[in-house]
This record gives sequence, structure tokens and C-alpha cells, in this order.
Amino acid sequence: MSTSVLVINCGSSSIKYALVSERREDRIFGLAENLGSPEARIKGITTGGEALELSIPNADHEKALETILERLAHHNPQAIGHRVVHGGTLTKAELLTPEIIERIREATPLAPLHNPAHLVGIDATMRLFPHLPQIAVFDTAFHQTMPSHAYRYALPKFLYTMHNVRRYGFHGTSHAYVSERGSQLAGSFKQGGWLTAHLGNGSSTCAIWNGQSVDTSMGLTPLEGVVMGTRSGDVDPSIHSFLASNLGWDIYKIDKMLNSQSGLLGLSDLSNDMRTLIEAADEGNEDAALAIEVFCYRLAKSLAALSCGLPRIDGLFFTGGIGENSALIREKTLAYLPHFGFNLSKENNNALKRGTEGRIDAGTGPQIWVVPTDEEGRIAKETEHVVAALERPTIKKSEPETEVA
Ligand code: AMP
Repeated sequence: MSTSVLVINCGSSSIKYALVSERREDRIFGLAENLGSPEARIKGITTGGEALELSIPNADHEKALETILERLAHHNPQAIGHRVVHGGTLTKAELLTPEIIERIREATPLAPLHNPAHLVGIDATMRLFPHLPQIAVFDTAFHQTMPSHAYRYALPKFLYTMHNVRRYGFHGTSHAYVSERGSQLAGSFKQGGWLTAHLGNGSSTCAIWNGQSVDTSMGLTPLEGVVMGTRSGDVDPSIHSFLASNLGWDIYKIDKMLNSQSGLLGLSDLSNDMRTLIEAADEGNEDAALAIEVFCYRLAKSLAALSCGLPRIDGLFFTGGIGENSALIREKTLAYLPHFGFNLSKENNNALKRGTEGRIDAGTGPQIWVVPTDEEGRIAKETEHVVAALERPTIKKSEPETEVA
């Protein structure tokens, strides 16, 4: 059976889509943006690999999805895979039933920006394509294997038992894909202890033992952890009372500052974009240089901390826009971790072509790899896996389920 899966990632005013077919290299993808405004449009790549730009003035999510699907209908997708940021305590991809949709709704207080947008997209695709199986793939699911000593905060117990206040972790689809692919490249598929650094506009780290997440840098929300484009990562939690008492800020203003005005942007007072900062630092901008240094130092600290979750370190995988493309950031980060025995080959690091997989250590110490992430491919694969399980007539209890590779 040919299996093409439409992967959908709905944001508040945008929809990313990708049609992933069995021959994964023939991918059609695009972005509907500015939804609900006169500037609404779809930009993407067509079947023939040509650029597409289509104006859809004032289109909402449903209209945009209808337009996207009209253009893709002749590819006959077998299923739709929805990226959902927060799945609460759901541990794996799930068929979207009324019960699962309710669980996504219940997790909304934990992802107030993301989950409502996903629900709008889910609602629209369910109405437009009632005959297609629709699967939710959660960013949080991969981290549900964390032990309680990694996911609990040192807060009063009732906040956990009654209000689900705990660490969940995010970017799970990326950490899962990169650690599986990377360990495969390293010749020890899903075996051993690996650290992953997903470095994009949002960034997080993860410790993986025998293919399972044992700790990660993001927590209750995607704000905890390392320095990001506009997010602060870890700060002293007393910052809230300090700013409220001394500057009279309310909780919304503090939250906005920590999520949208901090990180690389806050430190540099220039940009959230690492490329811009590297260029500015080269031209002598000291704030940009400091932002880069704090980013790398705190990233190294996070990796060192997560190593406590691993009996041994076999290696480290870099991914995401920064991790895949910046030899400088990789080198600077590893320079803060000499006691782990990482031995970077500067030559291999600098020679690695953008967007390619490659090993960049010098052959001694833990391995270091760059592995371009493929969240859409992973979502498609998990979607296929759930659909295949639905189509199987009966699964005997003793029969192990096929693993998602
Ligand atoms: P992502 O969110 O994964 O798309 O990553 C976006 C981040 O990757 C931005 O901060 C970009 O500046 C950064 N990025 C992309 N290419 C490069 C590059 N060649 N060098 C440094 N940063 C890069």
C-alpha cells in the first residue's frame, strides 16, 4: 500500500503542512500564514519542486486547510498527522477520538498558546475529511519515560497530584528522531547513552538511555532550560516577585518579557536570530558577542547537568537551525565541556555541509554528530504506525507491537 501522510502543524495564525510519501525525498510542503487577515497567503513547494505563492485574503484555518487539501487531493493522503505540543501525560501518538480531543483540551492550561490553535486545526480537518484517520503526535510524549526524580519539582505535593504541576519536556519528536537516527549512524541503534541539543529559535537538550528520554531541559512549559531566541530559559523564580515589588509589573507583563523579549534578543538588544548575532559579533558588537557566549555556556551547563541521567555518555547529537548550521556554536559549546572527553575535529566541524549528517569528533572520546532533524517525517511515521495498528484485525496479547524506528 502506498502511504502518504499529510502532516499538519497549526499555530494561532499559521499552518505548516507537509505531504510525506513513502519515497520521503518527494516531499511537498508549505506554510499558510497571516490567517484571518487580508494578507493571508500560502507559500510552499509544489510537486514539481517549484515555488508556490497563493493569496487567500481573510482565510481562516478551515479555508486555508481546504485550499491546501484541494491542491494535494490527487495525492490521496491516507491519513492526517497533527503535531500537538502538549499531550499532558499521554505517552504515545493517538487516534483522534472525542476522548483524546478532550485530553488535548484539558492540557490547554499547560500550553495556552499552542493547544487551542491545534484544536482549531483538528476541528477543521475532522469536518473537511471525516473519512480519513487523524492522529495526534505529541511533543511531550517522548519524555513520558522520565523517572519521577527527573520530572518532579521540589514543590508542595498537591500541586503535582491535584494540578499536574511537573516537568513534561517538549521537542520530543525531534529528540526521538535525532537520537534514533544518530544512534543508527553510530552503529548502536537505540543503545547506550546520548545527549541531544536541539538548537533553533526554541532550544532544548535531552538525555536518552537505550532509546528512551530520561531527562530534558524544558519543564512544565517550553520556557525552562537553555537560552532561546526570545525565551530566557532558567532564571531565579524570584524574578517574578522582584519585578512585581520593584517595578510594579503584573504577571502578564513578566510572562511576556520572559517568553518574547528575553533570550538572545534580550541579551543582545539586537536580534533573536543567531546568524545576525554572529555577523554583528564579527563586526565588534559586544552585546551580540555576550549573547552568543551566554547561549553556549548555558547550553554546556545544561548538557553537563543532563549527563547525570545517563550511566555513561556515548555521544552528543546537534540539531535544529543553529545546531545543524553553526560550526562556531558547536565549537564554543564543546569548549566548555573539556572534562567530558569530547574531542572535536575542527576540520570535520568546519567542513560539514549545511543540512547534511556527519560525524565531527576526532575519533577519541564520546562521539559528536550533526543530525538534521525531521519532525514531519517522524510525525508521518508515527501516524502510519497508529493507522497500521488500527488496520490489524486483532493483536494477540502475547504479540509485541512493532516499534517505530
Ligand atoms: P529553527 O528554529 O530550527 O529554524 O532555527 C532558527 C535559528 O537557526 C535562527 O536563530 C537562525 O539564525 C539559526 N541559523 C540558521 N542558519 C544558521 C547559520 N548558518 N549559522 C548560525 N545560525 C543559523
